[in-house]
Amino acid sequence: MKIERIEAIPYSIPYTHPLRFASGEVHAAGHVLIRIHTDDGLVGIADTPPRPYTYGETQASIMAVVQDIFGPQLLGLDPLDREMAQQIMRRTVHNDTAKGAVDIALWDIIGKSLGTPVHKLLGGYAEGMRVSHMLGFRPAQELLEEAQRFREQYGITTFKLKTGRRPLNLDVEAVRVLREGLGDDVEIYLDANRGWTANEAMEVLRRTEGLGLTALEEPCDASEALSRRRLVEHSPIPITGDESVPTPGDVSRELLSGGCNAICIKTARSGFTQATEILGLCTGLGVDVTMGNQIDTQIGSLATVTFGAAHEASQRRAGELSNFLDMADDLLAEPITISDGAIRVREVPGVGAEIDPDKLARYRQDA
Ligand SMILES: [Mg+2]
Repeated sequence: MKIERIEAIPYSIPYTHPLRFASGEVHAAGHVLIRIHTDDGLVGIADTPPRPYTYGETQASIMAVVQDIFGPQLLGLDPLDREMAQQIMRRTVHNDTAKGAVDIALWDIIGKSLGTPVHKLLGGYAEGMRVSHMLGFRPAQELLEEAQRFREQYGITTFKLKTGRRPLNLDVEAVRVLREGLGDDVEIYLDANRGWTANEAMEVLRRTEGLGLTALEEPCDASEALSRRRLVEHSPIPITGDESVPTPGDVSRELLSGGCNAICIKTARSGFTQATEILGLCTGLGVDVTMGNQIDTQIGSLATVTFGAAHEASQRRAGELSNFLDMADDLLAEPITISDGAIRVREVPGVGAEIDPDKLARYRQDA
């Protein structure tokens, strides 16, 4: 089995409403669909979400690096030789989502060629993951109504609140309104996307004490090394690294230097191969992981569930898997459903992300 052709297809699907957070704002999912074809007719599928404000990758840069740099070197390779594929892609720095998608597409081919679901190949631990829903910047009362609606409609009981606003009281108030409105049996944690300084984050933790928060993600820029270390030392809850730790090397550096003491894993930027390395570091060092979301489509969310459900440590906390609900449509032929607060893995060979050809024809931007 050999890689014969690699497609990087740009497409755009609008969001139902603009998504706002401390690091930027997006109106449509302008992603790149990766399809890797083998000489025996198998097709590996993965999605790449460009995040120019977070990682510096754009739709055009992802297409260019996949088609012009990775593509020519990967042609003729056996998809099972994934360490060789990693080594080829490692020669190029950064471009993490492009690399992640190529890796996931290769795993998809491996699963299909063996007639086995990829979640089984990776570990096969659970049949699905509990879902955490992300709440964006909105007035506190609207956030509460959204959380109540999601609990009622989908059975979701874990919520990530996007924070990092100034004045700090906007977010402190949102936490209070959510806790009072949702009661104690709901998990709430925060993600500031580097919106604060470490000292502002410390102030928020003081002012939300007793409200049962379980983690604070990326409170400030990781380059604020000394203040952030002090925050990690004194915080009563884990400080999670996300955009500061896209690679295993970053994870080691930040954990060992005290820049964070929990890790967000995103298959969109790590693929399954590097996500496995990161998970090993985290379990070895004894820190929590959360399966994060890069505002993924259903294709991307399915990849996250596939990896997250495969290991005990990655399914312990609810995974951030509901962002696809903000999209007006999707390329996935058989839509993902959330029931009883969970998404199940697909018991089919590969990852199970088959594409609806009519939808791809409608949304692709290169035809
Ligand atoms: Mg985050």
